[in-house]
Amino acid sequence: VKHGRRGAFAFYSPDMTTRAQFVLHVERRLQRALDRGGLVLHYQPIVNLASGAVEGIEALVRLADGAEPALGPAAFIPVAETCGLIAPIGAWVAREACRQQVAWQREGIRLTVSVNVSAAQFRRADFAAQIRDLVVSSGIDPHCLVIELTETAIMENLAEAVAILHALKALGVRIALDDFGTGYSSLSSLSTLPPDKLKIDQCFVRGIETDHASRAVIDAVIALAGSLDLELVAEGIENESALHYLRERGCHLGQGYHFSRPLPAPQLLAWHARHRTS
Ligand code: C2E
Ligand code: CA
Ligand code: CA
Ligand code: CA
Repeated sequence: VKHGRRGAFAFYSPDMTTRAQFVLHVERRLQRALDRGGLVLHYQPIVNLASGAVEGIEALVRLADGAEPALGPAAFIPVAETCGLIAPIGAWVAREACRQQVAWQREGIRLTVSVNVSAAQFRRADFAAQIRDLVVSSGIDPHCLVIELTETAIMENLAEAVAILHALKALGVRIALDDFGTGYSSLSSLSTLPPDKLKIDQCFVRGIETDHASRAVIDAVIALAGSLDLELVAEGIENESALHYLRERGCHLGQGYHFSRPLPAPQLLAWHARHRTS
């Protein structure tokens, strides 16, 4: 076997083939789901940690096409980003979340809805214009819409990001920095483009009981959010001791399985009805 041939052969390793097949499989399923209505949103409540009142909900996309294996967004969103399907999926997610928020609001249930936007979606030049059109066509109160972005999405596109974020803020839409503390430039992104909210990543919350460093990061982020006057949401609260720690330290908002898993719209509404008076 010649050298060049061997190199070429090494490129088509079994792993690569498996990965390529997986990507193709997911791409086909996503395209079919887009065509036939196989995407749904689940909603996870964001709770005031002191009062237990529901402050808003985060929309999380699900692939509900009945096919095997079941795939979560952590598996299919990265594929969608590489195969160009993130734009139509992201547009569908934002449209559906706004439609649902407006429908609930008409029934007297006012819930702020947070929508995740991936870097590949945010990078598009027309992103702010899309959101503006959506606000107009859906009739959503822009203050009830939160765009969740990761620091990485912002830092990858810093020059554009500044303009886009200012355009979004001018609309009245709010910005949350997702997975805060895990990016490579947390603090510089805060001074360049102040968001409205920080979401402290669930890896730190998970470490509350066992890891001194996780608690130190949480304490520092709580102080930072306080002095910058930003809302702070703790993600991934799974038990009473995490809740207790965060509440005692002065973190105002949180979400996690301790309160509720992400739920389909009707179940979220039932959950909300049970918790609105507490
Ligand atoms: P994320 O935005 O950080 O969302 C939080 C994830 O943590 C969700 O996973 C949620 O179900 C999960 N979670 C919530 N509470 C707990 C808890 O107490 N314990 C544990 N272990 N997990 C908890 P999910 O729904 O599988 O989504 C994973 C990621 O996929 C999201 O992370 C987000 O980055 C992405 N994603 C989800 N929906 C969308 C979407 O509509 N558009 C985009 N671009 N990305 C999305
Ligand atoms: Ca999020
Ligand atoms: Ca997050
Ligand atoms: Ca995440």
